[in-house]
Amino acid sequence: MTAFSLARRPKELVFRAARLAERRFLAADYVRVRLEGEALRGFDSPGADDHIRVFFPGADAAALSVDELRAAPSREYTPLAWDAAAGTLDLEFLVHGDEGIAGRWAVDAAIGDSVGVGGPRGSLVIEGEPEGWLLAGDETALPAIRRHIGGMPRGARGLVVIEASGAGTEYELETPEGVRIEWLRRDATAPAAALAARLGALTGDERPAGDVFAFVAAEQAIVKPGRELLARWGLDAERAVIKGYWRRGDAGYHAPH
Ligand SMILES: Cc1cc2nc3c(=O)[nH]c(=O)nc-3n(C[C@H](O)[C@H](O)[C@H](O)COP(=O)(O)OP(=O)(O)OC[C@H]3O[C@@H](n4cnc5c(N)ncnc54)[C@H](O)[C@@H]3O)c2cc1C
Repeated sequence: MTAFSLARRPKELVFRAARLAERRFLAADYVRVRLEGEALRGFDSPGADDHIRVFFPGADAAALSVDELRAAPSREYTPLAWDAAAGTLDLEFLVHGDEGIAGRWAVDAAIGDSVGVGGPRGSLVIEGEPEGWLLAGDETALPAIRRHIGGMPRGARGLVVIEASGAGTEYELETPEGVRIEWLRRDATAPAAALAARLGALTGDERPAGDVFAFVAAEQAIVKPGRELLARWGLDAERAVIKGYWRRGDAGYHAPH
């Protein structure tokens, strides 16, 4: 008998126009953004690691056809929080230097600038209650980790390991008392290396007891050590999420879902 299962819930794909309403830097390279727009009314995202596709048309997304919007450059982001009645959606962006489109947009866009939002196209929802949690990732996974933590019961037990460029406190992450957080400093020349080393060093004694849900997402190199940890801890790979959220040197990396 297992304590939880993962259920796939498909969703009709909807495209919405939105505008930049607010921006707040949590760290020099990490920014929380609020989007707003009539079309965001009714937005929903049932799964903690859901993703949307943010389109950057460089023009008013509301004036474009769906085909025109879909032709614009786009990147994947995690819906952090939303108000379906007011029509707002909050996202968090890691800003990785001067490269790319999405991270730069989060810093450089003017209030009122337009984007398109596609999805989520489907959700993976935890049904039941895991007896233990392992959440691991870099800042790109922080919004999904925040949502998983937000769904934990007060008595939850587990471990959260995050590789980041900062020390940790700036990201304003709080967990229930039984869930320990470890912050690891990223080696900028070797993303995911610190996280991979920590996952590789996790002992059986550190395994949360019982039926554990594991979520691991960071640079693509994390997939192998993530899977190895599942095997070592005897966790069911079918009831875990191990994903590359970006790939070094690969602009617009399209993660397999
Ligand atoms: C399911 C899913 C959910 C995601 N959710 C989020 C989220 O909520 N917040 C978030 O910040 N990211 C998230 N990401 C990751 C984000 O989609 C990628 O980092 C994306 O490549 C960023 O786009 P860009 O236009 O800034 O850079 P790109 O144009 O894609 O890449 C330009 C260059 O920057 C490098 N690069 C890309 N991402 C990073 C990075 N994180 N660190 C260092 N170098 C990088 C690339 O390798 C490439 O060399 C998610 C990814 C997936 C698959």
